[in-house]
Amino acid sequence: MTTDFTAPRLADEVASLLDGLGVARDAWTGGTLPARSPISGEELSRVPETDAAGVAAAVGRAHDAFVAWRRVPAPQRGELVRLLGEELRAHKAALGRLVSIEAGKIASEGLGEVQEMIDICDFAVGLSRQLYGLTIATERADHRMMETWHPLGVVGIVSAFNFPVAVWSWNSALALVCGNACVWKPSEKTPLTALAVQALFERARARYGAAAPAGLSVVVQGGREVGQALVDDARVPLVSATGSTAMGRAVGPRLAARFARAILELGGNNAAIVAPSADLDLVLRAIAFAAMGTAGQRCTTLRRLFVHDSVYDALLPRLVRAYAGVAIGDPLQPGTLVGPLIDRAAWQGMQRALDEARAAGGRVHGGERVHAAAAPDAYYVQPALVEMPTQCGPMLHETFAPILYVVRYRDFDEAVAMHNAVGAGLSSSIFTTDLREAERFIAADGSDCGIANVNIGPSGAEIGGAFGGEKETGGGREAGSDSWKAYMRRATNTINYGRTLPLAQGVKFDVDA
Ligand code: NAD
Repeated sequence: MTTDFTAPRLADEVASLLDGLGVARDAWTGGTLPARSPISGEELSRVPETDAAGVAAAVGRAHDAFVAWRRVPAPQRGELVRLLGEELRAHKAALGRLVSIEAGKIASEGLGEVQEMIDICDFAVGLSRQLYGLTIATERADHRMMETWHPLGVVGIVSAFNFPVAVWSWNSALALVCGNACVWKPSEKTPLTALAVQALFERARARYGAAAPAGLSVVVQGGREVGQALVDDARVPLVSATGSTAMGRAVGPRLAARFARAILELGGNNAAIVAPSADLDLVLRAIAFAAMGTAGQRCTTLRRLFVHDSVYDALLPRLVRAYAGVAIGDPLQPGTLVGPLIDRAAWQGMQRALDEARAAGGRVHGGERVHAAAAPDAYYVQPALVEMPTQCGPMLHETFAPILYVVRYRDFDEAVAMHNAVGAGLSSSIFTTDLREAERFIAADGSDCGIANVNIGPSGAEIGGAFGGEKETGGGREAGSDSWKAYMRRATNTINYGRTLPLAQGVKFDVDA
């Protein structure tokens, strides 16, 4: 295990990272919102919070920016996002390190998150030349009918702590090339990384020149009330909110009440099926990464595993060994694979779920707190593997911690039924070398999730495909594919280039001139 917590105070390093990234001191000091590192539990600073008037002013600035930005041709808007990608490339190491310190991700995952930002910028630059509309066959002579896609307005972005920077970029890179401005309410647990990203955006905007107005991207800081103020602002036609299903249930109806659009990227109680023909070496590696990576704090974390009776006894002991041997500790140290939980509440939630599992007849391997003496204000845990007699109790909802429930199955249809029998199914996979099973799993009557994979775990979605959502809200909403359409409004245009005015069939409406 990696147990070196003797590094110098993280607050000093954070100060120099923020200075280097160009974040003004008054943006992150002297406020009321505590920024902490889950690595040690240490308070890094107190960030100024935005009050209701401040949110309204931020939306006003963004709206003014939108009014100018929507008239800039889309490929020129793409140039701003290209410059943002360059800033992210140049500052990848510093921003990735800050992500690790503020969210507790291991170094490669902090850097990987910034790489996802770079990737979506590249994607959006190409997209800025591909915002296509259709030309549609019209029933009228000498007419042409087509659809046009226009910018939408101010896009509100509410993000979760576990992807503190990438979620913003999945939204904003598309929103910006589509001609919108963005107001971002980051998680109250990760305010510093948001300020760092905003500073990099401002560098890109300064290089772009006057055609990119101030206010194209604005950050507001605080908790759910700040998010709610954004959600309720009538000048925000779309809110993309990433977080728990509880948050989605609160935000969705408020947006619907004022006919605003919602992109809800919510929780994931994700599962995999290990079939009789599965390659168990591959399965073991895929499961370890998908279930224990990021200490189980990914929306796509593997949380439920259905293993065929014929391979259960071969796989389980190997899994138990892999779980017991995983390197847990300071995520900044090389060799660490599992960092800390975000806070005490996360640890308490994990213990509650394990108690419920035991009460339901589950056999728990691991799950205890580690490094408590070396880091008393941080919450490191041994990832838990829980053998369950059936799918029940805490298995039916997402606990945002490293718990993998394992259930035996005998029949493929039974496994798919158990797989689909929970609400928050976001991502899924099957491990099989049987072509029929693989195809059945991704067919209409197979996995009901927005991500359905074969011989690869449920986590690690690529930005080129649409992902996220939540199966109850309709999967696959963010990033690639045709997700850009959510950030634009569609108009249908009919042009008459003839000399007559054909009306609908059978209608006569003659007027004397
Ligand atoms: P959370 O729901 O506690 O908070 C998410 C964000 O929503 C925060 O910024 C929070 O301040 C804000 N918020 C909460 N209630 C609100 C309300 N009523 N109105 C407006 N804003 C509100 O989630 P978290 O603990 O930060 O993140 C973990 C959760 O996010 C997990 O459930 C995870 O699965 C999910 N997640 C989903 C995706 C995805 O793409 N589907 C990606 C990352 C995380």
